[in-house]
Amino acid sequence: MTFTFDEIYALLMGRADNWLYMKADEAKTNAYGDEVYLRGIIECTNICARNCLYCGIRAQNEKLKRYTLTVDEIVATARQIKAQGLKSIVIQSGESEAVSDIEIARICHKIKDETGADITLSMGEKPKETYRLWKEAGADRYLLKVETLQDELYRVLHPGYELKPRIKCVENLKNLGYQVGSGFIAGLPGYTTKMLAADLLELVQIGVHMFSLTPFVRAQHTPLEQHLNGDMDLVYRAMAIYRLMAPDVNIPVASACASLDSNSKEKGLKRGANVLMLSYTPDKYRHDYALYQGKNTAFTEKLTDLKNLVDVILKLGLKPGFDFGRSKYEYT
Ligand code: SAH
Repeated sequence: MTFTFDEIYALLMGRADNWLYMKADEAKTNAYGDEVYLRGIIECTNICARNCLYCGIRAQNEKLKRYTLTVDEIVATARQIKAQGLKSIVIQSGESEAVSDIEIARICHKIKDETGADITLSMGEKPKETYRLWKEAGADRYLLKVETLQDELYRVLHPGYELKPRIKCVENLKNLGYQVGSGFIAGLPGYTTKMLAADLLELVQIGVHMFSLTPFVRAQHTPLEQHLNGDMDLVYRAMAIYRLMAPDVNIPVASACASLDSNSKEKGLKRGANVLMLSYTPDKYRHDYALYQGKNTAFTEKLTDLKNLVDVILKLGLKPGFDFGRSKYEYT
């Protein structure tokens, strides 16, 4: 389905929620049936050199206890995910050399070898050669949110960084054959609904396999800790609109949604989303991967709660998907 800017804006303003959610659910079901793809995520270090204003693990947050998992801990966690039957493993981190590029390559190799799972990396901006190294080592997918496609806003929120090189990274990843995920943070200070409408159109043009949208959730000890949280209705609407514009993409209900709405999984999965993620980061570290308030504390994200998550899915009349969960999107 195609929309004009004005139509998207009207939908984001809530002019036709019932219609929008019904059509998005229909489009999702046509593309992915009743299956909800499950992923296990390992947050391997919270050390970060950047200072994104919204993010709780930014370098200047001196209150945060920093951790880095060893290679053995990461591989052991991947084994645990596999033991629970999941075939989709995500490894995410702050941007640093705490785990070196070479170590990441070794980790990909080992995890692929031992589990056969699909591997998604989310480690920020790297040179194309690094992305190539990781792809050759067994990485299949990459998540790199652009956060916003507004140049000026991007600059303000990411001191010292520009949007263009980040978009270039997305292109490099696509050219290397990764399945690529990207998206925005709705409700960031200064990010208007009109900007979001324009960005949704532009990202569909760019073309990605997975659309990831979080609401802005304030994080302690950041310059934005007093700012209002994002509006979940805006998030659900944007996800549903994206589903209609690009029906074959994967769309997760991001874990940040659970911080603002305890029914986010139920709602998101009926409004166009088809993916859920669980954090398997070991207990002694997980609370320090504090991107925002409530991260890794919401009940559904705990290791022992795979069962709860499966229950949520079954209650909706949907099926838990333990397989690779690849995106069906292809470039046109
Ligand atoms: N360093 C990697 C991974 C970043 S953390 C990278 O740059 O890609 C993963 C995502 O968490 C970010 O891309 C951002 O969209 C989201 N995030 C961080 N802080 C947030 C906050 N306060 N509210 C909502 N989402 C946030």
